[in-house]
Amino acid sequence: MKLAIYGTKNYDKKYFELVNQQYGDELVFFDFMLGAATAKNAEGCDAVCIFVNDDASREVLAELAALGIKTLALRCAGFNNVDLDAAKELGISVVRVPAYSPEAVAEHAVGLMLCLNRHIHRAYQRTREANFSLEGLTGFNMYQRTAGIIGTGKIGVAAMRILKGFGMQILAYDPYPSPLALELGAEYVDLPTLYAQSDIISLHCPLTADNHHLLNKESFSQMKDGVMIINTSRGALLDASAAIDALKQQKIGALGMDVYENERDLFFEDKSNEVVLDDVFRRLSSCHNVLFTGHQAFLTGEALTSIAETTLGNLSQIANGEQCPNQVTAQS
Ligand code: NAD
Repeated sequence: MKLAIYGTKNYDKKYFELVNQQYGDELVFFDFMLGAATAKNAEGCDAVCIFVNDDASREVLAELAALGIKTLALRCAGFNNVDLDAAKELGISVVRVPAYSPEAVAEHAVGLMLCLNRHIHRAYQRTREANFSLEGLTGFNMYQRTAGIIGTGKIGVAAMRILKGFGMQILAYDPYPSPLALELGAEYVDLPTLYAQSDIISLHCPLTADNHHLLNKESFSQMKDGVMIINTSRGALLDASAAIDALKQQKIGALGMDVYENERDLFFEDKSNEVVLDDVFRRLSSCHNVLFTGHQAFLTGEALTSIAETTLGNLSQIANGEQCPNQVTAQS
């Protein structure tokens, strides 16, 4: 099988090449993302592999179908960037990596919490300049505080397990409660209760048509003053402009974001020699209590190995006409 892998970095190549020793596929790596202007580069390939910010809209999928591409392999869990109806109509199978390492993402979310709470990012800067003042660095004990977990699937439960270890109370919201979360002692509540009672709110649900800007002006207003919000899920779950106002009003006390609604034009590239045009990003990143990471929560060696193994395994199953449990269809 010949596979065009879009938007690749050195770390993707390294792990795909290692894992491909078992599969012997022909891998073609592109450093640019899939979009209307780049779809034609997949000519001669059997399948295309993309990541979170590639464009798999109807127009792009139609171009891939015209090139004879039969399978679109997402090397991520979320598939909000794929027009599944169009894929179905065009006869393109879509497969994904539903879980590569929930712990990798959960540990990163908790890393953001600890860093923001204890101002480690600020201490790092201060001590490099021999400024050993502790003014402004006061945090809070996470022990006996309340964490509100929105989305209690694989990552949400992995985050809970860590936070339980800190001795936190766990509130949860998910339309489908998880027995694992209940076993960990999580209490399922409605969103207004979770907003009102949580000291830290962490998003672990997928982005769907129904929950765009789930966290917005209205939901911020229901939260505790000084609440910490962590988003390692998808940027558009949180209204970034509304978050600026909530930060100014000190409603949000700390904001950790591994994802950002307009990340497509920013993340995964070195923009340090450019003027960043995104004023919302600039305003947010100028706040001492806002911490961005550039969609790196998944980035561990274990996760990258698992991503490559599952992706090449999915493609092999589809090519051999076998049932692929990781196939996503318009109905799912
Ligand atoms: P999962 O499918 O195991 O769990 C998602 C859970 O969210 C499910 O229990 C589902 O019922 C629940 N859910 C769906 N809609 C909801 C809503 N509106 N409100 C509350 N809960 C809702 O998925 P997962 O593996 O735990 O991943 C969660 C999300 O994390 C993914 O969808 C993806 O967006 C994100 N993610 C981010 C990174 C990263 O590097 N930052 C990496 C992997 C996944």
